[in-house]
Amino acid sequence: MKILVPVKRVVDYNVKIRVKPDGSGVDLANVKMSMNPFDEIAVEEALRLREAGKASEVIVVSIGPAQAAETIRSALSMGADRGVLVKAEQPVEPLAVAKILKGVAEAERPGLIILGKQAIDDDCNQTGQMLAAFLGWGQGTFASKVVIEAEEVGAGEVSRGTVDVTREVDGGLQTVTLKLPAVVTTDLRLNEPRYASLPNIMKAKKKTIEEKTPADFGVDISPRLKILKTIEPPSRKAGVKVGSAAELVARLRNEAGVI
Ligand code: AMP
Repeated sequence: MKILVPVKRVVDYNVKIRVKPDGSGVDLANVKMSMNPFDEIAVEEALRLREAGKASEVIVVSIGPAQAAETIRSALSMGADRGVLVKAEQPVEPLAVAKILKGVAEAERPGLIILGKQAIDDDCNQTGQMLAAFLGWGQGTFASKVVIEAEEVGAGEVSRGTVDVTREVDGGLQTVTLKLPAVVTTDLRLNEPRYASLPNIMKAKKKTIEEKTPADFGVDISPRLKILKTIEPPSRKAGVKVGSAAELVARLRNEAGVI
């Protein structure tokens, strides 16, 4: 069974975001870019499933500019088998991403697609859900545990079987059973992604990255949303030191009005 892992190139989570002076978006000039952290968790989970004999191949796919090949290469250095780069020079919204991923899934016929629950740049949390709907597959979102009960039905074929996904929901944990093929999205506690080892970084240089375009999947990536304005969050006001517990209580009651 193949596992497909979509990985997005985003501004590194350590970078302090700067908004462009004209408010048209985030300034990406000379900014460090990395793999979306939830996608690293998705790659890690796919690798663990392959290592446990539940999958035969891990394929990573990224939709983005030529530099997204670096993001794919990072996943290949972690241990993924091969990559697909769907080249798009303009930002692609989740709806178009989901349509392109549907095309990739129809070509590759994976038993499982593991995505991040959300990309930390747009915080949309939409792609996995829309992809599952387009494919007509079951979905287990916000996964903190993934257990596959699958039976191989031949190389390149989709497995018969099920996947149990434990989901992090508001009230606690919910476990659902999905028939394969299925879509899973990762939450933070699913696993701790590995670092790429030097030998694996060297090996990754020889792995293939196939190049495609949105047109190959018949997808129009023109934006449907118009960004009106991007603004920085208001800066936090400085705190004050209080002299005693009584003063703290008085200020909370009289100034903050919270007690
Ligand atoms: P979003 O719905 O934008 O929050 O993204 C959710 C997940 O969809 C991400 O964690 C990725 O796994 C996947 N994804 C979104 N955009 C892309 C992209 N351009 N290329 C590859 N995967 C993507």
